[in-house]
Amino acid sequence: MDFSLNDEQRQIYDYGGRLAQSFDNAYWRDHARRHAYPRAMFEQIAADGFLGMMVPEEYGGSGLGMLEMALFMEGTGNHGIPLFSMVVGPCMSLSHLAAHGTEFHKSELLPRACRGEIQFCFAITEPGAGSNAIRMETMARRKGNRFALNGSKTFITGADVSDYCLVVARTQKHTEVARKTDGFTLFAVDLKKPGIDMQRVRIAAPLPEEQWTLFFDEVDLGPEDVVGEVDEGFSILFDTLNPERIVVGAMCCGVGRWALGQAVEYASERNVFGQPIGAHQGVQHPLAKAHVAVENASLMTRRAAWEFDQGLAAGASSNMARYAGAEAGIEAVDAALQAHGGSGFTEDTGIYEMYPLMRILRTAPINRELCLSYIGEKVMGLPRSY
Ligand SMILES: Cc1cc2nc3c(=O)[nH]c(=O)nc-3n(C[C@H](O)[C@H](O)[C@H](O)COP(=O)(O)OP(=O)(O)OC[C@H]3O[C@@H](n4cnc5c(N)ncnc54)[C@H](O)[C@@H]3O)c2cc1C
Repeated sequence: MDFSLNDEQRQIYDYGGRLAQSFDNAYWRDHARRHAYPRAMFEQIAADGFLGMMVPEEYGGSGLGMLEMALFMEGTGNHGIPLFSMVVGPCMSLSHLAAHGTEFHKSELLPRACRGEIQFCFAITEPGAGSNAIRMETMARRKGNRFALNGSKTFITGADVSDYCLVVARTQKHTEVARKTDGFTLFAVDLKKPGIDMQRVRIAAPLPEEQWTLFFDEVDLGPEDVVGEVDEGFSILFDTLNPERIVVGAMCCGVGRWALGQAVEYASERNVFGQPIGAHQGVQHPLAKAHVAVENASLMTRRAAWEFDQGLAAGASSNMARYAGAEAGIEAVDAALQAHGGSGFTEDTGIYEMYPLMRILRTAPINRELCLSYIGEKVMGLPRSY
């Protein structure tokens, strides 16, 4: 078994250090406090060629895989730069279009998206359905060979700065389908189309990316907007949900590692009882324990990414990576906060400001209970609870 990275992977993993020279954790926090989209940073990421990492070269990307995307997300996280927009855009949406989109999506939209000229968001959550996506009600009603989209999606990250949204909708009512996973279709919806409205969801946590509720009223869609097969959307949905789980896990590992690095530096210098506080095991052990959690989770994200790239069933490892990553990120930031004492809560250190995002990621984009249910039922064979 080979755990080493090749030269290209190492460069991708280390890119966060280069990015942080111009756009560091303080830059991220400044934008997070103001809920201001960090446009200059994403222009730099686009110019450096990282938006199209999972898009084949013929469509303007660099044709790399899930592992490279996970390394990128963990590597930027290592420098205290969590790139949530990368999760819903380049990872969930662009890779999905590259795999299942129409020729228009691939040859017209992907090259522009890889250059950062257009952006994508991803919409599955609904006010009434939440975690239970099967019960979603947003409906693309057939009108000849076209569709009329009606309904709403909520908590959609970055809808305000996006040009297109990958929307998961019903094309058959849940009462009319043989299997409960039938009757879903994915659409790449141009957000400039008539009939689309949006309203901001006011998230209390510091986050550069804003969340929005989207309302669809008779939005006209055609076959050219369909991603994959009509009514068969669920069969390809996990091609995008597993990557989301993997990169969120990786991002949490990176941020956790960043926080622990800050704590080690602080605890090695801060001296209140005649020696650095890091010499006290009461300070040292929580940091060491969190370090173990972060490194374990990091290994699992790499395994999940590798399985995904090999075309293996990656559901088990993706859910474990997602669960372990978020828990490790929370544990690490919390331990780092405690080690910093009062200074952890100041705007100078910025440790506290990383906590809300880590805590969000225990609940969203998928909550930890659904990850555990997947592991309990699909991996361990326990009876299904819902
Ligand atoms: C910052 C942020 C960004 C987001 N970005 C996006 C986005 O870009 N696109 C998008 O589509 N969605 C997005 N979401 C929505 C997110 O995916 C949902 O909030 C999440 O899936 C949980 O759904 P819910 O909020 O409806 O919770 P609910 O489904 O109402 O669940 C509430 C709680 O009940 C528990 N629970 C629910 N069902 C079960 C069960 N079967 N067993 C045990 N416990 C259970 C869980 O603890 C859960 O946290 C975002 C949310 C946030 C906060």
